[in-house]
Amino acid sequence: MPRQTSIHSCLQENFGFSSFRPGQEAITDSLLAGRSALAVLPTGGGKSLCYQLPALLLDGLTLVVSPLIALMKDQVDALQARGIAAARLDSSIGAAEVQSIYRQLEAGSLKLLYIAPERLANERFLNRLRGRTLALMAIDEAHCISEWGHNFRPEYMKIAGLAREIGVGRVLALTATATPAVAADIRKAFAITEADEIRTSFHRPNLHLSVTPCPAPQRRELLLQRLRGDSGGDTIVYVTLQRTAEEVASFLASAGISARAYHAGMQNEVRGQVQDAFMAGSLRVVVATIAFGMGIDKADIRAVYHYNLPKTLENYMQEIGRAGRDGLDSRCEILACADDLTVLANFSFGDTPTAEALRQLVEHLLGQEEVFDVSHYDLSGAFDIRPLVIATVLTYLELQGVLRSTGPFYDSYKIQFNRPQEEIFQ
Ligand code: ADP
Ligand code: MG
Repeated sequence: MPRQTSIHSCLQENFGFSSFRPGQEAITDSLLAGRSALAVLPTGGGKSLCYQLPALLLDGLTLVVSPLIALMKDQVDALQARGIAAARLDSSIGAAEVQSIYRQLEAGSLKLLYIAPERLANERFLNRLRGRTLALMAIDEAHCISEWGHNFRPEYMKIAGLAREIGVGRVLALTATATPAVAADIRKAFAITEADEIRTSFHRPNLHLSVTPCPAPQRRELLLQRLRGDSGGDTIVYVTLQRTAEEVASFLASAGISARAYHAGMQNEVRGQVQDAFMAGSLRVVVATIAFGMGIDKADIRAVYHYNLPKTLENYMQEIGRAGRDGLDSRCEILACADDLTVLANFSFGDTPTAEALRQLVEHLLGQEEVFDVSHYDLSGAFDIRPLVIATVLTYLELQGVLRSTGPFYDSYKIQFNRPQEEIFQ
């Protein structure tokens, strides 16, 4: 059978997909041709398939290195449900199960093995791999390898050396957030050529982004109004503080909206219940801190509201990226309050939100970019949300007298404020 035909039938038969999403086919082609690759695809872009499909088409075992236990479990469960020989080794697996996985390894019957990065430092595990054909090593959240990334993990540094040592055929590094510096680090570590760095657009036209400046005392009502106006679809409301999650959830519940809080201060069991109810569709709104999201793979989330300004832009990208994975129209709205700047400044720079600290905040939001050089951003439909958040922040800074005229900035980028600014910032 010609190669492309067999790839497509594998896609259809094993995963039930009739076509590739952007980037998936190019990545599969690189790997099948024996080359390592770097995949920079947005959250929800379908990164998992980029190693799951080649894993089935290549001889031997695919190792998947992932830092998130919950995510590994979801994926392995889903693969097994499709009849694919997959397993995971993480701290939650008991001794008997580990032995059974080792036996499957020895028998060569496993196609995919998910491991936490620490596992690669385990000699006994590495010994088990010797003599096996290691077709591919996939490294999820590969930005963790770079000190330039927002999530540097020292144990990731060793992965590249180990991949060479155990003789993996090729590597696929995956991330949703790689600046050019991070991408260059990843490519260097794994000897990936520039041509095998495959990026797809982060533009998701079905996500409708907006920022609505709103005075703090009116924010709850505005959110309620939005939820009542929406068609009733599943919704995440992100807040910064655990206390706010509780307060907003009970406010919404008392107004008759099916809503519960989710944050790291809750008991695991209760958190699990909230997550399960949301996934099952019996709970409409989760009011959550940043703790909610890792491994949330629900296709039909219709709205993501930011009740507070997001902590970093990477967070924001990840958080709104959970909306509309089914491709249908979804609303992503920031209900922006000036008060949030103080909270954010406290988070980032200790407890004195001076004018200088706020300036730094803007710099922080801009990452490596020049603060005022935003001329290359195009807001017309683009998914890069930096201008949007920056414009919001700059608006406040200007109104607080921290910055001089930022007017031309948001004029030229046509930031649409949903209410006249004079009315909001009186
Ligand atoms: P990422 O890891 O990039 O955030 P996932 O691998 O979790 O994304 O995939 C997101 C969703 O897209 C999943 O529900 C997955 O089943 C679906 N998906 C992936 N590839 C395809 C495809 N080619 N066609 C349709 N759906 C796909
Ligand atoms: Mg993923």
